[in-house]
Amino acid sequence: MADEKCCGAAAQDEKSAGCETIAIEKTGNTCPLCEDYAASQASKPVAVMSCEGACLRGEVARRAANILCHELAPEKTARICLGAAFTKDTGQRNLVRKAPRVVALEGCFIECASRMMRGAIPGLEVHVIAADKLYEFDRDLFGVDEMSEEEMTSHARTVAESVAEQL
Ligand code: SF4
Repeated sequence: MADEKCCGAAAQDEKSAGCETIAIEKTGNTCPLCEDYAASQASKPVAVMSCEGACLRGEVARRAANILCHELAPEKTARICLGAAFTKDTGQRNLVRKAPRVVALEGCFIECASRMMRGAIPGLEVHVIAADKLYEFDRDLFGVDEMSEEEMTSHARTVAESVAEQL
């Protein structure tokens, strides 16, 4: 049976099937480069995270987030390092926690990035974007080795441009 105390946002979601509790090993390690980056991004109004999927859908979402944050809207968006934001309560998580708006570019309908961060920050409001709904491709494909580099980058740009228009 689901433990409603384990994930605030999911517990509030009537459609939620519940949640699972995962103990994340703490680390005393801190990356000064990452902390400096987080501090430099703190004034930006939109935190952008992406799933880090190893499949082509995840790869396209990840590339799209990079194009959006580093090329199309660098003054508005802060690119979040999902692993750091999820696994430890330091600068990256603070960026997500304090951003006026949080966008998640999800590779697919499993929506890993937003589900993870709602677990880390209960009640977090996330604008979830299913990246694979924003470009046309053969939906039977799965792996990054099943699509060319050029096509993945082209799809990522399509996604990034679409999201940039919504900012
Ligand atoms: S959202 Fe989809 S593509 Fe991204 S990590 Fe999760 S399962 Fe993989």
